[in-house]
Amino acid sequence: MTDSASIPTAHRALARSLRRWRRGRGIPLKRMAAELGFSMATIHAWEQGRRFPAGRHLDLLSAYTGIPVCAFFYPGRNPCDCAARLTRPRPGARL
Ligand SMILES: [Zn+2]
Repeated sequence: MTDSASIPTAHRALARSLRRWRRGRGIPLKRMAAELGFSMATIHAWEQGRRFPAGRHLDLLSAYTGIPVCAFFYPGRNPCDCAARLTRPRPGARL
C-alpha cells in the first residue's frame, strides 16, 4: 500500500479528479488508456498519485475529460481562462 503522506498534494488532487471522472462515467481503465494512447499502468499510476503527467499530457487529459487543468486541482471553483484552451485530442494521435 502506498504511503499517502509521501504523495504531494497536487498529485493527490489530480488523482482524485481523474478517478472521480472515470468512475463516475463507468469508463473502464482499459478503454481510457487505449483512447489516450497510454498504458493502463500509466493511467492507474496517475489515478493513484504515484506518478504525475508531463504538462502536455495534462493538457491532453484536460481535453479528453473536458475538465480545465486548474479544476483538476481546485474542483468546484470557477475555472480560469485555461478552459478556453480546451481542444479535442486527435484520434489515434501518438503521444
Ligand atoms: Zn484554469
